[in-house]
Amino acid sequence: MLIVILLVVIVVRTVSFKTKQVPVSSGVVYPVNIDEAAGRLSSAVGFKTVSSLDQSQVDYGQLTLFQAFLAKSFPLIHSTLKKETINKYGLLYVWQGSDTGKKPILLLAHQDVVPAWDEGWTHPPFSGAIAENYIWGRGTMDNKGSLMSILEAMEFLLKEGYKPSRSVYLASGFDEEVGGREGAGKIAEYLRTQGIQFEFVLDEGMVATNGVVPGISGWVALIGTAEKGYLTLELTAEGKGGHASSPPRETTVGILAAAINKLQNNPFRTRMTTPTRGLFEYLGPEMRGLNKMIFANLWLLGPVVKAKLSSNPTTNASVRTTVAPTMFEGSQQDNILPMLARATINCRILQGESIKSVTDRVTEVIKDPRVNITPVTLSSFEPSPVSPTVGWSFEVLTQTVREIMPDALVTPMLVLGRTDCTYFTGLSPCCYRFVPQRVPAAEMAAIHGINERIPIDNYGEMICFYIRLIQNSSTLLLK
Ligand SMILES: [Zn+2]
Repeated sequence: MLIVILLVVIVVRTVSFKTKQVPVSSGVVYPVNIDEAAGRLSSAVGFKTVSSLDQSQVDYGQLTLFQAFLAKSFPLIHSTLKKETINKYGLLYVWQGSDTGKKPILLLAHQDVVPAWDEGWTHPPFSGAIAENYIWGRGTMDNKGSLMSILEAMEFLLKEGYKPSRSVYLASGFDEEVGGREGAGKIAEYLRTQGIQFEFVLDEGMVATNGVVPGISGWVALIGTAEKGYLTLELTAEGKGGHASSPPRETTVGILAAAINKLQNNPFRTRMTTPTRGLFEYLGPEMRGLNKMIFANLWLLGPVVKAKLSSNPTTNASVRTTVAPTMFEGSQQDNILPMLARATINCRILQGESIKSVTDRVTEVIKDPRVNITPVTLSSFEPSPVSPTVGWSFEVLTQTVREIMPDALVTPMLVLGRTDCTYFTGLSPCCYRFVPQRVPAAEMAAIHGINERIPIDNYGEMICFYIRLIQNSSTLLLK
């Protein structure tokens, strides 16, 4: 009897597992001059705005030239909007809306890029080549494509005489790739002192992709609703040193190796957090057969799904706090015992845990008083709050995605890396991480890798997306 009831529940839940996609009839397109826009992105790539942790390695002249180029390329923005410069190279544009009762929205995109060398590239990384229907080069995907398309959208609307009722802020840091403290960090601090709250904040972090989710063959627009925390711990062990010909039973390197071994054998437990559950709630109904049945019945089959997820490094990272030993240092010579051994472990913290709870657990698992555990404070971030998938902000965002990319399914998701958005979570409960870029699974490696490029037609879509988003933010009254 119990089995029958169980089966009935499973079937009913599967059948009533209805789509959460906003219905759209056809896509929205604007008459953007894509050739000119592609030319401007191509020029933007030419500025080597490479950030580095070592300030002396940064060519700040490139940022100055890049910003002069922006001023020349977008004359209406620079004559109409309020532009402020924060901490020398951080940019903040404010497009004042007519209705001061409406909370503004904030768009984020960074100016800096990671380094690139010519080797392996089809077209040199800073050439901005336009070929084979792509714009090529470092920054086209991360993140100048986003910055430039937002500016294109604003310039387009200004040319049309558009006046938003809701204010639009655009903030752009210059050191996101090395932590973002000087750029986004300082801009967020400035906005905090102004007491501004945003209806929503939109940054990079996720894209539209395909071929990633089993059971879904088309495009999926992944909207990051939270990002994991970041914690680096330094482990050290001190010993006497001496000659390697008469070693103690364990050297300092051996002590740390044992500690790391314990950590790897005792992973953090798996947990299904709201963003990951959201992914199944949004994509499950679009699946068929067994997949749909499983995701409609997570209440029963959650443990099976978690076990499956933890078998692959990427999906594993979405259901648990991860610990990655990354650096190890002992003595300087083969026959000298190490006085001091040092290991670095990089942890990515899942929502529900904290820098403190992770540090405590690592200490507890290692359980060796000879091992000192110190958090590297400068590079630590608590996991972000989870932004809602109900309410005006998420609806405006998802509706805009569906209007511009009607072929894509929309879903919330957890961001495994970190973004500049971290700094702004106190300025809005609705912080989303999504760029309307179409990146097939096989091309993900181009971000920070070789042959970073964006299809020209997708770049046009990006511009249309931001145009629509600004308009929808002023006109949609879903609240
Ligand atoms: Zn980036």
